[in-house]
Amino acid sequence: MFYLLNILIQMKIILNNYDLSKTLGPFNDIGFVPTMGGIHEGHISLIEKSIKSNKKTIVSIFVNPRQFNSVKDFNSYPANIKKDLAILKKIKRLDFVYIPKFKDVYENKKKPEIKIKKKFKVLCAKFRKGHFEGVLDVMIRLTKLVKPKKIFMGKKDFQQLYLVKNFIENEFNTKVIGCRTIRNRNKLALSSRNFLLKQSELNDVEKISKNFLNLKNKIKYTKNINQFLKKTKKDFEKFFNIKIEYLENRNTNDLSLSNKYNGSKIFLAYYYKSVRLIDNF
Ligand code: AMP
Repeated sequence: MFYLLNILIQMKIILNNYDLSKTLGPFNDIGFVPTMGGIHEGHISLIEKSIKSNKKTIVSIFVNPRQFNSVKDFNSYPANIKKDLAILKKIKRLDFVYIPKFKDVYENKKKPEIKIKKKFKVLCAKFRKGHFEGVLDVMIRLTKLVKPKKIFMGKKDFQQLYLVKNFIENEFNTKVIGCRTIRNRNKLALSSRNFLLKQSELNDVEKISKNFLNLKNKIKYTKNINQFLKKTKKDFEKFFNIKIEYLENRNTNDLSLSNKYNGSKIFLAYYYKSVRLIDNF
């Protein structure tokens, strides 16, 4: 009996747009969690939020080539669909997983009109040219296909959340919900890119991350925060042998540089060997 019940409520895997529209058609309270796979507890926290606030929840797994500005980065992205499905199947009440092919997402050849304002071309937008144009393009396409009531995204990728929320809520009748960053017990922000690191390298990154997080306390009574971070950036690069792209304190309302502790976050992107990691705190 339990076995039968389990089969009846099993998560459905959707592999093409025909199946997607047929399956989602009857529902109008859909929570959507877009991912690029490499499923971890961070993704699971978004899925659980969606399950709590929507009748149906769908997760997508799609490594979007158009948001990578380096072929090497795209090719080394840690995708493992079999492992991801095994994890997702264990989540009670997760209804659907959508694993589209490139042609499903990009079947409409027309590129949406996307213009990112100059003032937002900072942080990752500055260092990964075309990245957010690719992210917004795929998010518009996925939103049109899934027609969700709510989309759940992580604050770990704060600038992505900020830009997608502005764009999607302007264009669609869909809410974008920002969810807190999940960290491991050593406070390292979970990321699919962590799967690219060996255990000894993870230990290294955890140590580095702890030092970065400590900066939040240090800037509390610092007058010129960004000047302090500029110096810290140089010191950390030398000490930890890493390449830091940016280490900046910015206002969370408009992403402008800020020397205030309140209403701002420290944003960070760095390379540990060839792995690019980002965080904010
Ligand atoms: P990704 O698969 O890396 O594209 O991430 C899919 C979604 O999960 C995005 O909205 C991310 O911001 C979110 N996410 C990634 N890592 C975390 C984390 N550690 N905590 C919470 N959300 C996360």
